[in-house]
Amino acid sequence: MRERFWEQYPLEELTAEEWEALCDGCGHCCLLKFQDDETGELAVLNVACELLDISSCRCSDYANRLERVPDCTQLTPARIEEFRWLPKSCAYRRVAEGRKLARWHPLLSGDPERVHRKGISVRSFAVSRREVPEEEYEDHIIAVIPID
Ligand code: SF4
Ligand code: SF4
Repeated sequence: MRERFWEQYPLEELTAEEWEALCDGCGHCCLLKFQDDETGELAVLNVACELLDISSCRCSDYANRLERVPDCTQLTPARIEEFRWLPKSCAYRRVAEGRKLARWHPLLSGDPERVHRKGISVRSFAVSRREVPEEEYEDHIIAVIPID
């Protein structure tokens, strides 16, 4: 990977390896989300996709995720503008908005555990979709995000 590539190149010029390395491993994009058809608001749940390994906050089958989970959101440079629901801490959102990476980011700290110790990741509060019946989803809403 090129040195401090996230500061040198726009997202669309990153290599596949650099793109993947930019993810800080917080797991927020793997929480279930539902959009209200009328208001456009997005409800975010503390319920994580069934493939998310909550202890590591990583996808347990990343290579096959799109086949196994049809509503898995594939983040690409072309779609970054659409992802206003990503947390402000998300490295892709930071770079897209011209902000710096946080000091706890693995690319800067060299420590992939720091995102968890700092309480940025979903590790401390997410529950797996496998453990939550659909009729209880409403009780698991943790945020409502207005989307234009
Ligand atoms: S929210 Fe951003 S940084 Fe966090 S896991 Fe998703 S893509 Fe990676
Ligand atoms: S399939 Fe993997 S990457 Fe996609 S939402 Fe689920 S855990 Fe996240």
